[in-house]
Amino acid sequence: MESKKEPEKKEEEEEYHEIITDPNEIKLLEEFKHSLETVTDKSDSEVIDPSAVLDNDILIHFLRAKKLNVQKATRMILNYFHWKRKINLDDLYINFKLEHKNEIQLIFPHCFHKYAKDGSPIYIQIMGKLNPDEVFKIDTPQNICIYSALISERMEREYFKMCAKIKKRYVHGVFNIVDFRDIRTTMLINKKLLTYLKESFGILQDCYPECLSGCYILNAGFAFRAFFSAVSLFLDAKTKDKVRVYGENYREHLLEKIDSDCLPSFFGGTCQCPNKGGCLFSNAGPWQTEEDKKDDNLPEEIINGRIELNNYMMSGIKVNTVKEEKKEKEKLEEKEEKVEKKEKVEEKENVEKKEIEVKNTGNEESKPENV
Ligand SMILES: [Zn+2]
Repeated sequence: MESKKEPEKKEEEEEYHEIITDPNEIKLLEEFKHSLETVTDKSDSEVIDPSAVLDNDILIHFLRAKKLNVQKATRMILNYFHWKRKINLDDLYINFKLEHKNEIQLIFPHCFHKYAKDGSPIYIQIMGKLNPDEVFKIDTPQNICIYSALISERMEREYFKMCAKIKKRYVHGVFNIVDFRDIRTTMLINKKLLTYLKESFGILQDCYPECLSGCYILNAGFAFRAFFSAVSLFLDAKTKDKVRVYGENYREHLLEKIDSDCLPSFFGGTCQCPNKGGCLFSNAGPWQTEEDKKDDNLPEEIINGRIELNNYMMSGIKVNTVKEEKKEKEKLEEKEEKVEKKEKVEEKENVEKKEIEVKNTGNEESKPENV
């Protein structure tokens, strides 16, 4: 007898939302909604996205970004809606593809890779290989900017929610790791790079407020300080607070925020994503598609480029690990030496004590102890 198929159980969609408990925020959120519903300017009212207006999770971040000033938050979100319409974001979201992504990946490696302990998706950027002139030869600055805006939109629409389900908590932030190893000084004064960074930070701050849970900059050398002071001019105080700048010894700081199995081995974690040529290309995380898991037919130069890049990344961590290991070994030896010294001192003291005891009791022999 054929068993009747059980009706497919619909998995209950769990959703996690920002918990707003502050009575003042709750009150101002209502005022914010009212302010959007009663917009009188025709060009403004035409662009309003009704689904966003009903979504407290979106509204609260615009409101907080403007320090709970309803009027300023209204202007901010209206500008976002105008920008969305201007670039036709909803259409791009479905149809835009960066044509030469594989080539760009090799000179500007960047990827999402799993998530931090708090659930924030991790976004990695390797700047040391970057040459903006080459990137913009492959694709137009405009396309690169659209591509980077779409990354933010994708996080907001999909990735935060996917990570929230895994961590069973509300997630609204990306954890950025930006590696500046081997960056050429000429890159740090490259106008195209500064313009690109200014534009992408601008989009992130103006359209995706409070979307950064942390930004760890690695291998920041002396030249980087000047560069960073130029870049930080574009950053608001809240964003700046999230940025941490480290030299070569970043591993333990990263591991405070990220579990070892979510951190690529080239940064000192244990993840290697052996398929698809390593962590930089695996798209590992709850967003990984079946297509991502398949081996695709890539041209030889791309495959070789990936191998070369992985070797380069691993060579960095080897240097760090050797240094760290040496330091740890020295620390251990120092500790052992101290213990040895202490033991010797104690031994000496015991011998002296016994000698005194023997003296005090004359020539009396101590009785052997029964076992
Ligand atoms: Zn990995």
